[in-house]
Amino acid sequence: MFKTADSNNRDRQSLKDLKQRIRHLEEINRFTLDALELAASLMDFQPNISKLESPSLILEETCARICRLIRFHNMAIYLVDENDSDFFPAHWEPSNSKNRIAQEISRLIEQGFFSWVMKEKRPLILASSVPGQSVVLHVMSTSSRIRGMFVGLIKGESSTIPDVSWSLLSIVLSGSANALESFELYRIFREANVKLKRSVLNRTRQLEIQASYDQLTHLPNRDMIFKKLEKEIRTCEGEDQDHQVAFILIDLDMFKEVNESLGHDMGDKLLVQVGFRLQEIMDDQECLARLGGDEFAVILSGPDAESRARQTASEIIRIMAEPFEMDRQSLVLDVSIGIAVYPRDGKNLGQILSKADVAMYASKRKKTGYTIYESHLDSSGLNRLSLMGELKQGLDRNELVLFYQPKISLSNQEPCGAEALVRWLHPTRGLILPDEFIPLAEQGGIIKELTHRVMLMAAKQISHWRNLGVNLPLSINLSARDIQDSGLPEQVFQILDLEKIPPAMLEMEITESAFMTSPGKGLRVLNALNRMGVGLSIDDFGTGYSSIAYLKELPVKVLKIDRSFVKSMDKDENDRKIVKSIIDLAHNLDLRIVAEGVENKSILHSLSQMGCDMAQGFHIMKPGPADEFVQWFRTWNKA
Ligand code: C2E
Ligand code: CA
Ligand code: CA
Repeated sequence: MFKTADSNNRDRQSLKDLKQRIRHLEEINRFTLDALELAASLMDFQPNISKLESPSLILEETCARICRLIRFHNMAIYLVDENDSDFFPAHWEPSNSKNRIAQEISRLIEQGFFSWVMKEKRPLILASSVPGQSVVLHVMSTSSRIRGMFVGLIKGESSTIPDVSWSLLSIVLSGSANALESFELYRIFREANVKLKRSVLNRTRQLEIQASYDQLTHLPNRDMIFKKLEKEIRTCEGEDQDHQVAFILIDLDMFKEVNESLGHDMGDKLLVQVGFRLQEIMDDQECLARLGGDEFAVILSGPDAESRARQTASEIIRIMAEPFEMDRQSLVLDVSIGIAVYPRDGKNLGQILSKADVAMYASKRKKTGYTIYESHLDSSGLNRLSLMGELKQGLDRNELVLFYQPKISLSNQEPCGAEALVRWLHPTRGLILPDEFIPLAEQGGIIKELTHRVMLMAAKQISHWRNLGVNLPLSINLSARDIQDSGLPEQVFQILDLEKIPPAMLEMEITESAFMTSPGKGLRVLNALNRMGVGLSIDDFGTGYSSIAYLKELPVKVLKIDRSFVKSMDKDENDRKIVKSIIDLAHNLDLRIVAEGVENKSILHSLSQMGCDMAQGFHIMKPGPADEFVQWFRTWNKA
């Protein structure tokens, strides 16, 4: 059988068709295979990209994946800022291609192509300004937080990009946007977390600070300084024996009076000012603390700690001597300072604190500014806490007695008065002097009661002596707190009335500092006593802040020169000069003057020559019980 030419032609034609169909099928198949391969490679894209730790790595990986889909020779990813108002470049591929397409992109942005693609969410292919190239724009996001634009440059026409590649491109870009978004959310979370941690840390630090610093003065508080002291002691234990730690305990005298008479606000202000003054002289602010109330402390360490503590204590006394200016009031405060030194005075924190306390109370009693702890203070200091309790009982059990010391007139050597000095006849400890227990009575709030008792005893004595023909005014000592007590004049009036004695027979001695603490209130009490006819004198003149200005304001008639000047005026020329000028000053102000502490004849003689009015002292008679006094009165000047 043979074929005709026609049939041959038909065969050739159908073979050609067949070949074409096969080619076509092969083509489709190739695309499908390519697409399948790419789709497979996308399957790990999302999990992989989500693990990347920075936006730049995410974008880099995105571009690498895109390159496997479509051969872009330049790529860029632009993100939209938070306000949707601006596109900013986030990535370039290759990284040095920036300049080449940047201009082209800004043109596309300006002409609104970016915005159009963003809005329509459809890819756009445009002819590039470079001949033979096209620009592909594809929106990058479906998410609300991360939105952006992909820009790619390809050679030739857009038609060379198969449909399937567009779909895959869109998947890669939205995967990338998701990864960026979770990264962004993570960053926000991390920042919030860091902020939270920071604020927790700040708050903890604040609380720590609050727990270690005094709220009022902002100085380290009791806890903090005790910890520091303990730490210093531990360091010391490891070091050589020369190393010392000195603990300085500072207590304000009469702070209670300020608080009570001027109010707590004023008290607080005063403490703040005290804190400032102390800070001024400290090199290391962390070594200074307010322990609470009116107590402050300083720690010094090193081989010369003790001598530095002495210097510091003197400095403190000096800076505290200046009056405090408070709301147009000028206040003067004394301080009592006790110093204890580790390891000499104690082996641990507790011992050092209690020794410093003993030394501080020795200063308070003696009014000596500062005291370094010595073992004999323990016995003389007694146990002040138990003693305070016993004093209350002592008052109730009438264990307080008065001793009397005469004053003589220097013009005729005749007795002209007496001073009542309180003593405590303790059932087991024996006779205790006022310097030991008056500060306790002041601290323990029983001073008013004590003064009342002394006034009663003094008034009874005056009345009794009058019956015996001993007609002398008797003075008692008032504490700072007494003159802040507006009930005092009434009490005095009742006592005088009870014993039927003329007011001029009772005199009262007040120290300068007692008055200076709260001049206004004190002045009202003193004026009331003065109007009643009770004689008033300034005691211990010269030791406080002897201000002539206030002497004129006070209803006092007599100045008593402090015994510390008088005692030594025969040996110390300076003291002699001081005594002389106080006498002159007093006379210029029409005040009469008593010199106390007259211990020998030559002093008595000098005082007469200087024109002093009265004298009191051991040379004339040591303070003694009432019957001894009467004995003295009867024999004095009669020999
Ligand atoms: P003061 O008012 O200055 O009393 C005088 C002190 O000097 C008395 O000490 C007295 O014994 C002492 N003295 C007298 N003459 C001499 C002398 O020639 N040489 C020396 N070295 N000392 C002399 P005392 O009795 O120990 O009293 C001490 C302080 O206690 C008094 O000092 C006074 O401030 C206070 N005081 C005494 N009795 C009372 C009282 O009833 N109430 C109050 N609030 N305080 C009192
Ligand atoms: Ca006195
Ligand atoms: Ca005195």
